[in-house]
Amino acid sequence: MKRMIIDLSLLWLLSTSAFGKTNVILITVEALRADHLGTYGYEKLDTPAISRLAQNGIVFENVIVQAPLTLPSHATILTGTYPQYHGLQNVVGVLRESTPSLARWFSERGYETGAFVGSAALLSQWGLNRGFKTYDDHFSISVSRPIDFYLVKRRAGAVLDHALSWLREQKEKSHFLWIHFADPHVPYDPPEPFATEYCENPYDGEIAYVDSILDRLLGVLREDGLYDSSLIVLTSDHGVGLGEHGEESHGLFLYESCLRVPLILKLPEYHALSLEGVKNVRQTQQVRSVDIAPTIIQLLDESVPEAMQGKSLLLEMQKNSNKTDLPAYAESYYSRSKFGWSPLFSYSSGDMKFILSPDPELYNLKDDPKETKNLYDEQRALADEMERRLIEFQRSHTFPGSDRPKEPGLPDPKSKVQSYQKLMDAKSASREGKSEEVIQILSALGREEPENPAVHLMLGSEYLVLDHSLLAIQEFRESLRLLPGSYEPSINLALAYLRAGLPKRAEEILQNILRQNSLDFTAHHYHAISLAKQGRIEQAISEGKKAVEVRPVSASAHYNLGSFYIGDKQSQEAARCFLRALEINPDLVEARAGLVMAYLEMEDPDRALQQALRTVELAPDYSYGHFCLGQAYLARGRRDEAIQAFLKAKELDPQLEVPVF
Ligand SMILES: [Zn+2]
Repeated sequence: MKRMIIDLSLLWLLSTSAFGKTNVILITVEALRADHLGTYGYEKLDTPAISRLAQNGIVFENVIVQAPLTLPSHATILTGTYPQYHGLQNVVGVLRESTPSLARWFSERGYETGAFVGSAALLSQWGLNRGFKTYDDHFSISVSRPIDFYLVKRRAGAVLDHALSWLREQKEKSHFLWIHFADPHVPYDPPEPFATEYCENPYDGEIAYVDSILDRLLGVLREDGLYDSSLIVLTSDHGVGLGEHGEESHGLFLYESCLRVPLILKLPEYHALSLEGVKNVRQTQQVRSVDIAPTIIQLLDESVPEAMQGKSLLLEMQKNSNKTDLPAYAESYYSRSKFGWSPLFSYSSGDMKFILSPDPELYNLKDDPKETKNLYDEQRALADEMERRLIEFQRSHTFPGSDRPKEPGLPDPKSKVQSYQKLMDAKSASREGKSEEVIQILSALGREEPENPAVHLMLGSEYLVLDHSLLAIQEFRESLRLLPGSYEPSINLALAYLRAGLPKRAEEILQNILRQNSLDFTAHHYHAISLAKQGRIEQAISEGKKAVEVRPVSASAHYNLGSFYIGDKQSQEAARCFLRALEINPDLVEARAGLVMAYLEMEDPDRALQQALRTVELAPDYSYGHFCLGQAYLARGRRDEAIQAFLKAKELDPQLEVPVF
């Protein structure tokens, strides 16, 4: 056995020296249940690209994620460490600085590193960008609405376009590329023809759509001669409930519907294992997503960094080696941080799975894969033993000194399924713009559960959408009283204070957020506005610059900075910012109007008029655009046309103050 491994590594050395460093492509597909793929036995959906990749690779049939949430689970995949070690245990947070990282590992070895993500759940500001030279999270985040990171996403096709143009730039350079496809994630709205074809099951429709995008990616790799020589890894960050156990989405529970994901590894053609004929192989033992990073590193014939907590699956992949189940730990703090209910922890080993909660559960997954028969009372001794092992595992894999306090007395999420369902109903009504319905559902739920912070957070967000800032403030404050220091109510409270004309109050909250994460774009953005609203223009400019630095692709950040420069009479700087904003988003009419005012300040009425005409042409109903046009005409001495433009502005917005002639 030993002799065979030595021979294989020699072959590998030969192959690497002949063909350079191996390119590695990691693909994570959001919320992809393994049991919804043909490769894993699903019959209702055809995913030819994934099936073909599986035929060329190694399929792990039994893969468990360590958290059913996008950010913590991706952090585990990319660092090879558990959530309680890397520190990202929820939908927001900051990756612990000392955590090992796959991207850093590649970057230190001279690889080009690029990440292309499809959802704001993976914004660079949470720290996953460390080690990536390029981290493309270029989608527009609305800073004028309450924040819901899960709702901001790009289609897989758009993510792939960006990734491919990066890949083309790499040419002969070795690269580590991570692509994250945000479809399929709620709300399910696949593009045509998938929408029609899968109208009965839009979740499957989104998977079919992603498969078509994967087909495009793999096709390009083949054409460019990169497919055979690359290590390609495909997996997902978690599954989705689809109504099982009363959970439509993911994050609340730790059932298999949300923990079980696909894992396919396509090895380079000249890799020792490929030469050994390890291809189109299926592995049935239980493995975890924490094992992915160590496996990639060992497949490149390097030793796994000690700080990584996962186990390389290389041995598992070799023929004739002993393959054993790895115990799988998972946790979710979502119910704690969102609803004030108990967090959950699970531990599965062999056929048995234990879930630690106020009302604990024990399942035999072999006999009862859907987890319908709780054996806790029946097999109490085994349950107690698994609980002991879970706690020991958790303790030994937690970052030293970062244990979380026990909180006895919190409700079990299982007993709250109906409340959860009502919150989800309110969420989808909000998405559809049905504010009245949202407020009705939440107010009724709030009477039943006045201590549920999510009710107040969602109610506050809806009031903000309706521009009822004072009501929103009240709700966000209540949410914060129940969950002190929590991010979402804090940042939204700051926005509500800004809207209510209370910038000083907003500033205090924002400074607090920025003390915890100095890379928080939204906080910098709002902070700059709060300073400007207090007339502290110089400070607003410096804070606006930080927002631009943190997120250079934000058109609104450049626009805001331009506005502060206008307030400081630095019209050239202002024009530069507005032009940059328009480069990123040509439809941002506010930036175009700002540019008109900057040119007027610069005493360049010709350019001002040209931009003003363009502004009203692009946005004929934008009152301020007509106001700017009036000013531009005035500067050119065309008084009659100026009057017409001002009248039009006044007609569109009677509140707008225009010059009187
Ligand atoms: Zn996810």
